[in-house]
Amino acid sequence: MAKVKFNNKDAVFFSALRERVDAYFKQNKIEPTGNFKLFSKTFVLISTIVLMYILLVFVQPESVLINITLCMLFGVNVAAIGFNVMHDGAHGSYSKIKWINEIMGHSLNVLGGSVMMWKQKHNIAHHTYTNIEGHDDDIDAGSLIRLHKDQPKLKFHKFQHIYGLFLYGFMYFYWVFYTDYYKYFSKQVSDGVPLRKLKTHEHLNFWISKVVNYSLFIVVPIIYVGFWKFLIGYSIMAFTGGVVLSVVFQLAHIVEDAHFFAPNKEGLTVVEAEWAVYQLNTTVDFAPNSRFWTWMLGGLNFQVIHHLFPKVSHVHYPEIRKIVQETCKEYKITYRTFPSMWQAFKSHMIYLKQTGAAA
Ligand SMILES: [Zn+2]
Repeated sequence: MAKVKFNNKDAVFFSALRERVDAYFKQNKIEPTGNFKLFSKTFVLISTIVLMYILLVFVQPESVLINITLCMLFGVNVAAIGFNVMHDGAHGSYSKIKWINEIMGHSLNVLGGSVMMWKQKHNIAHHTYTNIEGHDDDIDAGSLIRLHKDQPKLKFHKFQHIYGLFLYGFMYFYWVFYTDYYKYFSKQVSDGVPLRKLKTHEHLNFWISKVVNYSLFIVVPIIYVGFWKFLIGYSIMAFTGGVVLSVVFQLAHIVEDAHFFAPNKEGLTVVEAEWAVYQLNTTVDFAPNSRFWTWMLGGLNFQVIHHLFPKVSHVHYPEIRKIVQETCKEYKITYRTFPSMWQAFKSHMIYLKQTGAAA
């Protein structure tokens, strides 16, 4: 397996930053894990999704428009639970109590994924090897989209900024029906990165989760609303969820300003910076002052902060951002931020266009 080498010899920036962030929590006598803000958000997101499920499957409103709207909102809600509840749980930042993190992480299993697979891919591959071609699964969208200049170029890539968004819509389908199985059976998290050996209870957990998701999301709806209505509703829900999930993930790393790295011939990626500076080079924040996005995206609009402090719950990111900004200024390190989601989105589209056309 290829390796990445950071220059952590004089990691002065991050030690200073960590000290300040630690001091912030100590002085204010708060825990870095979730608080009432997070718990109330969890309650809202879970109640709304249950309510929408009951409406769609059992109540079945007559209006087609209401049904379509509910299915789309359901897809958005799936993504929001992923951003806010599951992501913190899987990083162990939701609560001080381990089993609560486990339960919150498992919301992903109910929604169709596998938190065990996700932890291996996300916490290791993505967080350590952010934007390194061949290591970071998040910059690998298959051959249909070229997200990095070192990925092979195909003729149709020059149109990827046009069809990209449409393909993003299939991400959730792909996840629920393919990716996890591929990882499971090929015993690889991504190419060349082996999946660690699973224990018996993990095998069981994997399969039971899939059965629970398919029962709730496929079998029960088919019984109550019939096959065709289910298929249309599920497709709208999954497509919307896929677009929202993909776009939010892409905006933080795959924009014009973010840096990418590729391994040399020996498979070694040498990053001439300390790890934290490298994270600041490969990651951007967006819409930091928007209350709506900050509530909705579980701190993924503060992706820089998340990458520097993945063990801190996202509810603290707006405050920590101020400390990071100051420290960056002092150490003359660029901290990349798009003022709005729209600007980040535009930049992502320009990036797709440029990378699709580049040699
Ligand atoms: Zn993360």
